[in-house]
Amino acid sequence: MLLPAGKGRFVAKNRRSKISSINFSNLKSQISNLKPQTSNLKEMKLFDVYPLYNITPVKAQDVFVTDENGQEYLDLYGGHGVISIGHTHPKYVEKITDQIQKIGFYSNAVQNPLQVELAEKLGKLSGCEDYQLFLCNSGAEANENALKLASFETGKAKIIAFENAFHGRTSAAVAVTDNEKINAPLNSQHSVCFLALNDPEALENELAKNDVCAVIIEPIQGVGGLDQGTTRFFKEVEKLCKKHEVVLILDEVQSGYGRSGKFFAFQHHQIEPDIITVAKGMGNGFPIGGIMVHPRIKAKYGMLGTTFGGNHLACAAAISVLEVIENEKLIDNVNEVSAYFFEKAKSLPQVKKIKGRGLMLGLEFDFEVAELRKKLIYEKHIFTGGSNNKNLIRILPPLTVKKEHIDRFFEALDSIEKLDMSIEKRK
Ligand code: PLP
Repeated sequence: MLLPAGKGRFVAKNRRSKISSINFSNLKSQISNLKPQTSNLKEMKLFDVYPLYNITPVKAQDVFVTDENGQEYLDLYGGHGVISIGHTHPKYVEKITDQIQKIGFYSNAVQNPLQVELAEKLGKLSGCEDYQLFLCNSGAEANENALKLASFETGKAKIIAFENAFHGRTSAAVAVTDNEKINAPLNSQHSVCFLALNDPEALENELAKNDVCAVIIEPIQGVGGLDQGTTRFFKEVEKLCKKHEVVLILDEVQSGYGRSGKFFAFQHHQIEPDIITVAKGMGNGFPIGGIMVHPRIKAKYGMLGTTFGGNHLACAAAISVLEVIENEKLIDNVNEVSAYFFEKAKSLPQVKKIKGRGLMLGLEFDFEVAELRKKLIYEKHIFTGGSNNKNLIRILPPLTVKKEHIDRFFEALDSIEKLDMSIEKRK
């Protein structure tokens, strides 16, 4: 679209409001440059399902993201808990670059030794060597496959999930997500029962009906707002699932890969799930997900399948993530920085509750935090996350984050709070 801009100049305004000047002297050539937009007035738009912050990242390194104006942001959110080993880690960039020059993709109809290498490394680092790995492309897809496998295994269809759970957006994954707004009528075909966390009696009553194929649970709720079951509850869930021959699925999509201070968050409770689902931190931003299946569940040809899942490039990314987590002892760093975060948070009087584990953390205030998060982004240049709990700030930094970054966050928080209080006093 051409808009008048005075003094013999026009500006071309596109959908994203970027404005560029056109000089009359070489207008003809500039118009021909604009042809793809001006000669065809129809322009494909994005399907507008995301409310966007007005920030355009163009590069990132470790715990920092830089926007198109050169402004640097401290990333304490990792793009929904995805960045595990830090943005553009040199080993990661090298491995992916090297792989794409050899082969980026071939289908799952042929041998792919990178999948075998990934499975071996993942088994070793997580302490789950006995499990079998099936690779896919996202967290929702991992949960979808896990639920389907549980249904194949038991011959049943009902699923037990927990209040405030989030498991993804695909058919069964969204059906076990406790949010009516993101469930379409189509998803109601699934038979799902939501129970409260830490209520083993309710679980026992439901399982006794003998129609359940799976119990799916996040070790620490992410989108829900960092609530978690007690060790006693998790042990009870494991026992009841065994007793009723129901598949226990631990959704480690967000909490896995060291984020909780152990490789998997369920390992804080010494339980043994039947299926573990992974994604997010697994590829440090490269789309990859997977399910880890206990040896008691046997594979059959055709049960699960995918075109893209486990492709060469995704495997290279995921192998490099595991190598960096191990070589740089990132899980130790998680525990050290987490302890520091808890100490700092305790000294801030405005914080009512500190939730979560490791670097999967929530700070609960006694007011809604949307404005505070905006100030953190636009004034202090710090990314944080929100959740279903409107009073809670979610912190999911890269696992490489250091104490100095935590200091910067608390200083920012403190100064914003002081600012607000002094404004209040002036009123
Ligand atoms: N499970 C959990 C616990 C999640 O937090 C998410 C995403 O936030 C998902 C599943 C869905 O993952 P994806 O967005 O990769 O499909």
